[in-house]
Amino acid sequence: MGLLDGKKALIFGVANDHSIAWGIAKALHEQGATLGFSSVESLIERRVRPLATSIGATFVEACDVQSDEQIAAVMSKWGDQYGDIDILVHALAYAKREDLDGEFANTSRDGFALAMDVSAYSLVALVREARPFMHQGSSVLTLSYYGAEKVVAHYNVMGVAKAALEASVRYLAADLGPQGIRVNAISAGPIRTLAAAGIAGFKGMYGSFPELAPLRSNITIEDVGKTALWLASDLSSAVTGEVVYVDGGFNVMGVPLAEG
Ligand code: NAD
Repeated sequence: MGLLDGKKALIFGVANDHSIAWGIAKALHEQGATLGFSSVESLIERRVRPLATSIGATFVEACDVQSDEQIAAVMSKWGDQYGDIDILVHALAYAKREDLDGEFANTSRDGFALAMDVSAYSLVALVREARPFMHQGSSVLTLSYYGAEKVVAHYNVMGVAKAALEASVRYLAADLGPQGIRVNAISAGPIRTLAAAGIAGFKGMYGSFPELAPLRSNITIEDVGKTALWLASDLSSAVTGEVVYVDGGFNVMGVPLAEG
Protein backbone atom coordinates (compact mmCIF):
# COMPACT_ATOMS: atom_id res chain seq x y z
CA MET A 1 0.00 0.00 0.00
CA GLY A 2 1.40 3.37 -1.03
CA LEU A 3 0.50 6.64 0.69
CA LEU A 4 -0.61 8.03 -2.69
CA ASP A 5 -2.27 4.99 -4.27
CA GLY A 6 -4.95 6.18 -6.69
CA LYS A 7 -3.73 9.82 -6.61
CA LYS A 8 -2.84 11.77 -9.75
CA ALA A 9 -0.10 14.39 -9.79
CA LEU A 10 0.77 16.96 -12.44
CA ILE A 11 4.32 18.23 -12.13
CA PHE A 12 5.71 21.40 -13.74
CA GLY A 13 9.45 22.08 -13.77
CA VAL A 14 11.48 18.96 -14.56
CA ALA A 15 14.53 20.01 -16.60
CA ASN A 16 16.71 16.95 -15.92
CA ASP A 17 17.41 14.32 -13.25
CA HIS A 18 18.98 16.97 -10.97
CA SER A 19 15.77 19.02 -10.88
CA ILE A 20 13.96 19.40 -7.58
CA ALA A 21 10.77 18.57 -9.51
CA TRP A 22 12.34 15.19 -10.36
CA GLY A 23 13.15 14.52 -6.68
CA ILE A 24 9.51 15.21 -5.90
CA ALA A 25 8.32 13.06 -8.82
CA LYS A 26 10.37 10.09 -7.60
CA ALA A 27 8.97 10.37 -4.06
CA LEU A 28 5.35 10.62 -5.26
CA HIS A 29 5.85 7.75 -7.74
CA GLU A 30 7.34 5.47 -5.06
CA GLN A 31 4.16 5.92 -3.01
CA GLY A 32 1.84 4.96 -5.85
CA ALA A 33 0.85 8.26 -7.52
CA THR A 34 0.18 8.43 -11.27
CA LEU A 35 2.29 11.25 -12.68
CA GLY A 36 2.19 13.66 -15.59
CA PHE A 37 4.80 16.21 -16.56
CA SER A 38 4.93 19.62 -18.18
CA SER A 39 8.03 21.53 -19.08
CA VAL A 40 9.35 23.99 -21.67
CA GLU A 41 9.21 22.72 -25.25
CA SER A 42 12.99 22.58 -25.75
CA LEU A 43 13.43 20.05 -22.91
CA ILE A 44 10.54 17.72 -23.67
CA GLU A 45 11.95 15.11 -26.06
CA ARG A 46 15.59 15.19 -24.97
CA ARG A 47 15.17 15.35 -21.20
CA VAL A 48 11.65 15.06 -19.83
CA ARG A 49 10.11 12.25 -21.86
CA PRO A 50 12.93 9.74 -21.13
CA LEU A 51 12.61 10.47 -17.39
CA ALA A 52 8.83 10.16 -17.52
CA THR A 53 9.11 6.88 -19.42
CA SER A 54 11.54 5.52 -16.80
CA ILE A 55 8.72 5.61 -14.23
CA GLY A 56 5.92 4.62 -16.59
CA ALA A 57 4.43 8.10 -17.04
CA THR A 58 2.97 8.89 -20.46
CA PHE A 59 1.55 12.40 -20.01
CA VAL A 60 4.31 14.81 -21.13
CA GLU A 61 3.23 18.21 -22.45
CA ALA A 62 5.10 21.36 -23.37
CA CYS A 63 4.13 24.61 -21.67
CA ASP A 64 5.67 28.03 -21.28
CA VAL A 65 4.07 29.33 -18.09
CA GLN A 66 4.13 32.86 -19.47
CA SER A 67 1.30 31.81 -21.79
CA ASP A 68 -2.23 31.51 -20.36
CA GLU A 69 -3.27 29.65 -23.53
CA GLN A 70 -0.56 27.01 -23.13
CA ILE A 71 -1.41 26.54 -19.45
CA ALA A 72 -5.11 26.12 -20.28
CA ALA A 73 -4.25 23.63 -23.04
CA VAL A 74 -2.18 21.44 -20.69
CA MET A 75 -4.89 21.44 -18.01
CA SER A 76 -7.58 20.62 -20.52
CA LYS A 77 -5.56 17.70 -21.98
CA TRP A 78 -4.93 16.43 -18.46
CA GLY A 79 -8.63 16.77 -17.64
CA ASP A 80 -9.58 14.78 -20.74
CA GLN A 81 -7.18 11.96 -19.90
CA TYR A 82 -7.18 11.81 -16.10
CA GLY A 83 -10.14 13.83 -14.83
CA ASP A 84 -8.74 14.98 -11.48
CA ILE A 85 -5.69 16.73 -10.16
CA ASP A 86 -4.94 15.49 -6.65
CA ILE A 87 -1.46 17.03 -6.54
CA LEU A 88 -0.13 20.04 -8.48
CA VAL A 89 3.61 20.72 -8.28
CA HIS A 90 5.01 24.10 -9.37
CA ALA A 91 8.83 23.85 -9.31
CA LEU A 92 10.05 26.49 -11.72
CA ALA A 93 11.53 29.95 -11.79
CA TYR A 94 13.45 32.24 -14.09
CA ALA A 95 15.38 35.50 -13.99
CA LYS A 96 17.89 36.99 -16.36
CA ARG A 97 21.42 35.98 -15.50
CA GLU A 98 22.55 39.61 -15.27
CA ASP A 99 19.92 40.20 -12.59
CA LEU A 100 21.44 37.45 -10.41
CA ASP A 101 24.77 39.21 -10.04
CA GLY A 102 25.87 42.56 -8.65
CA GLU A 103 23.44 44.94 -6.96
CA PHE A 104 19.66 44.51 -6.74
CA ALA A 105 19.44 48.28 -7.17
CA ASN A 106 20.41 47.84 -10.82
CA THR A 107 17.52 45.51 -11.70
CA SER A 108 15.87 46.61 -14.94
CA ARG A 109 12.10 47.10 -15.23
CA ASP A 110 11.74 44.27 -17.73
CA GLY A 111 14.04 41.95 -15.74
CA PHE A 112 11.89 42.56 -12.65
CA ALA A 113 8.65 41.91 -14.56
CA LEU A 114 10.03 38.75 -16.18
CA ALA A 115 11.22 37.24 -12.88
CA MET A 116 7.87 38.03 -11.22
CA ASP A 117 5.86 36.65 -14.13
CA VAL A 118 7.66 33.31 -14.49
CA SER A 119 8.55 32.74 -10.84
CA ALA A 120 5.52 34.08 -8.93
CA TYR A 121 2.52 34.87 -11.14
CA SER A 122 2.76 31.48 -12.86
CA LEU A 123 1.63 29.79 -9.63
CA VAL A 124 -1.54 31.88 -9.64
CA ALA A 125 -2.15 31.10 -13.33
CA LEU A 126 -1.56 27.35 -12.87
CA VAL A 127 -3.83 27.15 -9.84
CA ARG A 128 -6.59 29.09 -11.58
CA GLU A 129 -6.62 26.70 -14.54
CA ALA A 130 -6.15 23.57 -12.41
CA ARG A 131 -8.91 24.49 -9.95
CA PRO A 132 -11.81 22.97 -11.90
CA PHE A 133 -10.00 19.59 -11.70
CA MET A 134 -9.14 19.85 -8.00
CA HIS A 135 -11.34 18.84 -5.09
CA GLN A 136 -11.44 18.24 -1.34
CA GLY A 137 -7.99 16.88 -0.37
CA SER A 138 -6.10 18.18 -3.41
CA SER A 139 -2.70 19.69 -2.65
CA VAL A 140 -0.67 22.39 -4.42
CA LEU A 141 3.07 22.68 -3.83
CA THR A 142 5.61 25.27 -4.88
CA LEU A 143 9.31 25.84 -4.24
CA SER A 144 10.82 28.86 -2.53
CA TYR A 145 14.12 29.92 -1.04
CA TYR A 146 15.38 31.79 2.05
CA GLY A 147 16.19 34.82 -0.13
CA ALA A 148 12.44 35.60 0.04
CA GLU A 149 12.88 36.46 3.69
CA LYS A 150 16.43 37.73 4.12
CA VAL A 151 18.95 39.32 1.80
CA VAL A 152 21.10 36.66 0.14
CA ALA A 153 23.98 38.00 -1.95
CA HIS A 154 23.25 37.86 -5.72
CA TYR A 155 19.77 36.35 -5.27
CA ASN A 156 18.40 39.86 -5.86
CA VAL A 157 15.25 40.00 -8.00
CA MET A 158 14.61 36.31 -7.42
CA GLY A 159 14.35 37.02 -3.67
CA VAL A 160 11.67 39.59 -4.39
CA ALA A 161 9.87 37.15 -6.70
CA LYS A 162 10.04 34.43 -4.03
CA ALA A 163 8.57 36.86 -1.46
CA ALA A 164 5.67 37.43 -3.88
CA LEU A 165 5.40 33.67 -4.38
CA GLU A 166 5.21 33.00 -0.64
CA ALA A 167 2.55 35.71 -0.21
CA SER A 168 0.66 34.18 -3.15
CA VAL A 169 0.73 30.82 -1.35
CA ARG A 170 -1.04 32.41 1.62
CA TYR A 171 -3.67 34.19 -0.49
CA LEU A 172 -4.31 31.08 -2.61
CA ALA A 173 -4.59 28.97 0.56
CA ALA A 174 -7.28 31.35 1.82
CA ASP A 175 -9.17 31.27 -1.49
CA LEU A 176 -9.03 27.51 -2.02
CA GLY A 177 -9.24 26.38 1.61
CA PRO A 178 -13.06 26.38 1.74
CA GLN A 179 -12.98 23.80 -1.10
CA GLY A 180 -10.59 21.64 0.94
CA ILE A 181 -7.65 22.38 -1.38
CA ARG A 182 -4.32 23.04 0.35
CA VAL A 183 -1.50 25.27 -0.94
CA ASN A 184 2.00 25.18 0.56
CA ALA A 185 5.60 26.03 -0.28
CA ILE A 186 8.83 24.22 0.48
CA SER A 187 11.78 26.52 1.06
CA ALA A 188 14.75 24.38 0.11
CA GLY A 189 18.40 24.88 0.97
CA PRO A 190 20.87 25.22 -1.94
CA ILE A 191 20.90 22.29 -4.40
CA ARG A 192 23.07 22.02 -7.52
CA THR A 193 20.59 22.31 -10.37
CA LEU A 194 20.49 24.06 -13.73
CA ALA A 195 18.62 27.03 -12.23
CA ALA A 196 21.12 27.35 -9.37
CA ALA A 197 24.01 27.48 -11.83
CA GLY A 198 22.71 30.87 -13.00
CA ILE A 199 23.20 32.50 -9.59
CA ALA A 200 26.57 34.24 -9.11
CA GLY A 201 28.44 32.88 -6.09
CA PHE A 202 26.22 29.78 -5.79
CA LYS A 203 29.23 27.45 -5.65
CA GLY A 204 30.69 29.20 -2.62
CA MET A 205 27.36 29.30 -0.83
CA TYR A 206 26.77 25.61 -1.55
CA GLY A 207 30.29 24.76 -0.36
CA SER A 208 29.99 26.53 2.99
CA PHE A 209 26.40 25.41 3.68
CA PRO A 210 27.30 22.15 5.52
CA GLU A 211 29.51 24.09 7.94
CA LEU A 212 26.69 26.48 8.83
CA ALA A 213 23.49 24.41 8.78
CA PRO A 214 22.70 22.69 12.10
CA LEU A 215 22.36 19.28 10.41
CA ARG A 216 25.84 19.76 8.84
CA SER A 217 25.09 18.56 5.34
CA ASN A 218 23.84 19.77 1.97
CA ILE A 219 20.24 19.25 0.94
CA THR A 220 19.33 16.70 -1.74
CA ILE A 221 16.37 16.47 -4.10
CA GLU A 222 15.43 13.32 -2.17
CA ASP A 223 15.19 15.37 1.06
CA VAL A 224 12.82 17.78 -0.70
CA GLY A 225 10.90 14.84 -2.19
CA LYS A 226 10.18 13.42 1.26
CA THR A 227 8.69 16.67 2.58
CA ALA A 228 6.78 17.07 -0.70
CA LEU A 229 5.33 13.61 -0.14
CA TRP A 230 4.12 14.66 3.30
CA LEU A 231 2.59 17.89 1.95
CA ALA A 232 0.99 16.06 -0.98
CA SER A 233 -0.51 13.34 1.19
CA ASP A 234 -3.28 13.19 3.74
CA LEU A 235 -0.60 13.20 6.48
CA SER A 236 -0.62 17.03 6.21
CA SER A 237 -4.43 17.29 6.04
CA ALA A 238 -4.61 20.42 8.23
CA VAL A 239 -1.56 22.23 6.84
CA THR A 240 -2.09 25.05 4.34
CA GLY A 241 -0.61 28.45 3.51
CA GLU A 242 2.73 27.42 5.01
CA VAL A 243 6.33 27.75 3.96
CA VAL A 244 8.12 24.63 5.20
CA TYR A 245 11.90 24.83 5.35
CA VAL A 246 13.88 21.86 4.08
CA ASP A 247 17.29 23.33 4.80
CA GLY A 248 18.90 21.33 7.59
CA GLY A 249 17.91 24.13 9.97
CA PHE A 250 19.97 26.82 8.22
CA ASN A 251 17.22 29.45 8.55
CA VAL A 252 17.09 29.25 12.34
CA MET A 253 20.71 30.34 12.74
CA GLY A 254 21.52 33.93 13.62
CA VAL A 255 25.24 34.34 14.18
CA PRO A 256 27.03 31.26 12.82
CA LEU A 257 29.13 29.21 15.24
CA ALA A 258 32.88 29.56 14.86
CA GLU A 259 33.36 25.81 14.69
CA GLY A 260 31.25 22.67 14.53
P1 NAD B 1 15.82 23.41 -12.58
O1 NAD B 1 16.65 24.23 -13.53
O2 NAD B 1 16.02 21.96 -12.59
O3 NAD B 1 14.27 23.73 -12.77
C1 NAD B 1 13.80 25.00 -13.14
C2 NAD B 1 12.69 24.77 -14.12
O4 NAD B 1 12.02 26.00 -14.45
C3 NAD B 1 13.17 24.17 -15.44
O5 NAD B 1 12.50 22.96 -15.69
C4 NAD B 1 12.77 25.22 -16.45
O6 NAD B 1 12.43 24.68 -17.70
C5 NAD B 1 11.56 25.83 -15.77
N1 NAD B 1 11.15 27.09 -16.38
C6 NAD B 1 11.85 28.25 -16.47
N2 NAD B 1 11.13 29.15 -17.19
C7 NAD B 1 9.95 28.54 -17.54
C8 NAD B 1 8.82 28.94 -18.27
N3 NAD B 1 8.71 30.17 -18.82
N4 NAD B 1 7.81 28.04 -18.45
C9 NAD B 1 7.87 26.80 -17.92
N5 NAD B 1 8.93 26.37 -17.20
C10 NAD B 1 9.96 27.23 -17.02
O7 NAD B 1 16.15 24.03 -11.13
P2 NAD B 1 15.55 23.74 -9.68
O8 NAD B 1 16.58 24.26 -8.75
O9 NAD B 1 15.08 22.35 -9.57
O10 NAD B 1 14.33 24.75 -9.61
C11 NAD B 1 13.03 24.37 -9.24
C12 NAD B 1 12.45 25.36 -8.23
O11 NAD B 1 13.14 25.22 -6.99
C13 NAD B 1 12.58 26.83 -8.64
O12 NAD B 1 11.42 27.52 -8.23
C14 NAD B 1 13.77 27.28 -7.79
O13 NAD B 1 13.77 28.68 -7.56
C15 NAD B 1 13.49 26.51 -6.53
N6 NAD B 1 14.59 26.40 -5.57
C16 NAD B 1 15.81 25.96 -5.98
C17 NAD B 1 16.85 25.87 -5.05
C18 NAD B 1 18.21 25.39 -5.49
O14 NAD B 1 19.18 25.63 -4.75
N7 NAD B 1 18.35 24.71 -6.60
C19 NAD B 1 16.62 26.22 -3.71
C20 NAD B 1 15.36 26.65 -3.34
C21 NAD B 1 14.35 26.75 -4.27
